[in-house]
Amino acid sequence: MGVSVTCYGGVGQIGGNKILLRDRDTAVMLDFGAGFSDGSDYFAQYVIPRRVNGAGDFFEFGLLPEIAGLYSEDALQNTHVKYEPPLVDAIILSHYHFDHTGRIGLTDAQIPVYCGETTALMHEACQNLPGGSPLKGHRLETFRTGDRFRVGSIEVQPVHVDHSIPGTYGFIIFTSEGPMVYTGDFRFHGPKGSMTRDFIEAAAGARPNVLISEGTRVGQRDPRREMGEKEVVSETQALLAKNEGLVFSSFRGNDIDRVSSFFRACEVAGRRLVVSMKVAALLVKLQDDKNLRVPKPGKDVSVYVRRKKKGSYDDGDYFRWEKPFLDGGVSAADIKKDQKGYLLHLDEAQLPELIDIRPDAGGAYIHASTEAFNEEGERDEELVKNWVEHFGFSYHQIHASGHAPTRQVKELVNGIGARRVVPVHTDNPGLFSSMTSSKVTLPQKGEPISVA
Ligand SMILES: [Zn+2]
Repeated sequence: MGVSVTCYGGVGQIGGNKILLRDRDTAVMLDFGAGFSDGSDYFAQYVIPRRVNGAGDFFEFGLLPEIAGLYSEDALQNTHVKYEPPLVDAIILSHYHFDHTGRIGLTDAQIPVYCGETTALMHEACQNLPGGSPLKGHRLETFRTGDRFRVGSIEVQPVHVDHSIPGTYGFIIFTSEGPMVYTGDFRFHGPKGSMTRDFIEAAAGARPNVLISEGTRVGQRDPRREMGEKEVVSETQALLAKNEGLVFSSFRGNDIDRVSSFFRACEVAGRRLVVSMKVAALLVKLQDDKNLRVPKPGKDVSVYVRRKKKGSYDDGDYFRWEKPFLDGGVSAADIKKDQKGYLLHLDEAQLPELIDIRPDAGGAYIHASTEAFNEEGERDEELVKNWVEHFGFSYHQIHASGHAPTRQVKELVNGIGARRVVPVHTDNPGLFSSMTSSKVTLPQKGEPISVA
């Protein structure tokens, strides 16, 4: 086979995209993420792959492909796969979500990662935070829409799309046997929906042989009302105006559109948005991106200061990256004093802060997270509900998904009009054949599909 794509992840599952494109002597990996349900038969929150065993614990259950010249020497210690210098020329990253980046940390740092400029900024911010960045150690080659870059025998044209994290791209890839397209993750109902339409137009213009498309919400029966980011602003605003107590919410802190939406709702309702130090660190870094308009910590939004020791907020108790936020930060006592003055963002891990704040009953909680993709996610939702109930808060679902619903995936697939469609990042790849007259090839893990 001259030119082929092989899916090693995102096959019949949401997340975990790992798509190897081979063209003559060139090999590139399109995303290298961790799937939401990856290994859930073997691993759980309390049984996790051992970091010290690198790729070994993943190989055991076929959770990572045994590809030569991809992994670092470190990751292959204790495995039967022998280290070889890189045979994969590049990792091309669609966006900075863990289900697309999560396993890059195991790859050879000599393999460059191509990513959007905004992704590079988020990587820089996360490097210094607990948890770090999966791109650590790799050389980053950055791009923006309008650029084209070459890796060996292929040429890549990245085009921006709308998604729940800034700096998300789809790709048109010109191979030696014709063009192919990879969508990454996309939606139309965010603040930058027109970008996804730009992508469709550019991709259709290339007349691709193959389209690899995500389908997260294809066939999903989500009882929740469909909402765009605009409705998120107006509904949040209404709730903030009506409620007499504290309002808090938890959502993925890198969903910058959501931070901006809450900020705007707060401005109108006369409340102050309070974010965690981690989110604040990301917002500070993203000020450098002139194309994003991101709320500024200290000025537009306040930063929550957690107590580190009993009864003390001593400077010496905080990490270096936390220190800039101590001055002018907001404590549990500050929030307690003026509960209807705030909209507080708490990561789920920070829910125990409510015990310090001890808010009055009657406040409101906004559930603004991504859909629960699996049982674990559903369990987490239950847990949050228990906290909300314990403190006598009301529960409100105000959320715009990061992904397009079925009918809009259909619009994209038919708008691009590739000869062959390969569905990934979906629980229901089989439904694609009813959505398009293009030939649909269901990927099988590790089996090459011709791009000719
Ligand atoms: Zn994503």
